[in-house]
Amino acid sequence: MKKSVFLCTFLGFSLILTAYTQTSDPQLLRQHVYTLASDSMRGRSAGSQEGLLSAIYIAQYFKEIGLISYEQDSYFQYFLINQNIKCQNVIGIIEGKDSLLKQEYIIIGAHYDHIGYRIKENAIEVYNGADDNASGIAALIELARLLKANEHQLKRSVMLVAFDAEERGLLGSKFLVSQLPLQHIKLMVSMDMVGYYKKSNKLFIKGVATLKDGKTNIQDIAFTAPLNLRMQNFEKTLFAATDTRYFAMENIPAFHITTGMLSPYHKPQDDADEIDYEGLSIITDFMHSFTLRMSQNESLSYSHRRNAIHPKDKVVAFGLLSAFGMSHLRYTQGAFAKGRSGWAYKGGLLLQIRINSYLSIRPECSYTYENFYQPSTSSYTSHIEKLHLQSLYFPLSLLLRTTFDESIYAYVGLGGYYSYVFSAKIRNQKLSLVQDIYPHRYGLQYSLGLHIAPVNIESIFRFDLYPLFHHDKSIKNNAFFLQLAYVF
Ligand SMILES: [Zn+2]
Repeated sequence: MKKSVFLCTFLGFSLILTAYTQTSDPQLLRQHVYTLASDSMRGRSAGSQEGLLSAIYIAQYFKEIGLISYEQDSYFQYFLINQNIKCQNVIGIIEGKDSLLKQEYIIIGAHYDHIGYRIKENAIEVYNGADDNASGIAALIELARLLKANEHQLKRSVMLVAFDAEERGLLGSKFLVSQLPLQHIKLMVSMDMVGYYKKSNKLFIKGVATLKDGKTNIQDIAFTAPLNLRMQNFEKTLFAATDTRYFAMENIPAFHITTGMLSPYHKPQDDADEIDYEGLSIITDFMHSFTLRMSQNESLSYSHRRNAIHPKDKVVAFGLLSAFGMSHLRYTQGAFAKGRSGWAYKGGLLLQIRINSYLSIRPECSYTYENFYQPSTSSYTSHIEKLHLQSLYFPLSLLLRTTFDESIYAYVGLGGYYSYVFSAKIRNQKLSLVQDIYPHRYGLQYSLGLHIAPVNIESIFRFDLYPLFHHDKSIKNNAFFLQLAYVF
């Protein structure tokens, strides 16, 4: 009962749209944010009654503005999460005016869901999500109004989407991607957290390199208001993942527009009175010019460069490796004193487990063969002989990589290893493990590498720690390898 009274109240809320059609209205932006981020909306969690109310609020505006509805008679695109929780994206369309280009779509989206509320000491604590992402929705509704008023300038069609269930793992955008004829989607933009322009003094456009000539296209936009644009080639951090993700994974150019992570992120203090409405208005106007420009651009095509946080690469990659190098063995006393360098060969398997866009962990297992020239002073022989060692080698490294491109990147690795010598021979004479050759080794290794998909080229330096921890300090075995790995 209470809910329906509330619904009527806010649907009765001024749906009167101002006459200005070239610039956004800060008062309307303010109204949208205050409504969606009010305590009565209880944090708009996906599937909640208040989530549905938010969707109705947005759809009412889409209707008032005159957007074409996604379904024949509804702006809602329903989908289920956790098998039985009903959620809905709100989708409106403006058709392009060019007879050919109107087949192509630009999607401008923002998520409207947030993370709900909790009960703390018998009181309700609402996560209002004003910046995240009532700000993006306010901009989306005003952008819809401006684009509709200036639709004669649109060549491509524009699909405006208020996504649900972003906070549950980008589920609304994932569902939309599964339903669309993707060959018609030329660009996707997500406005997520755009309410802190004054504080950040920057508007970030992340992912511009995913669109061919993206940077130049944006620089060409006729926009005169003072706006400090910061273009970044790719989206880089997993923590800022937004609805661009599933589009980017389908090789659709995708941009994330944001003023950054300056609001009290996922805290109850992310409130409407903290939002910079003047800044939000400038950003909305910029998005208007941006969308017109992109819709008119001769071609919008994928650059074949991917956002680092949208890899199609598996979380776990498997690799085959092979390496050649130099190894140096020295026993400070006994039969192999004055040991020398020899060549070494290594072959084996590796796993590359991605932690985030810039860190991976890499366990490896390989067979190593080393041979060392022994000096004639060795008590085993009277002339130069070779010592053959075979061992199993188990390094574990943490890899830190560059993130500006997914297919070519440089990395450094740091880790440790354990190795077990299972055979040692001079000529055909087997040596006693433990007595002559101590079989257990461990140490540190670091590496420098270059990944040119699908191959890793890497130099590896291995330092024996054995002498540090054993009082007899009788062995030292360092090595250098040049390694090639094929990563699946
Ligand atoms: Zn968000």
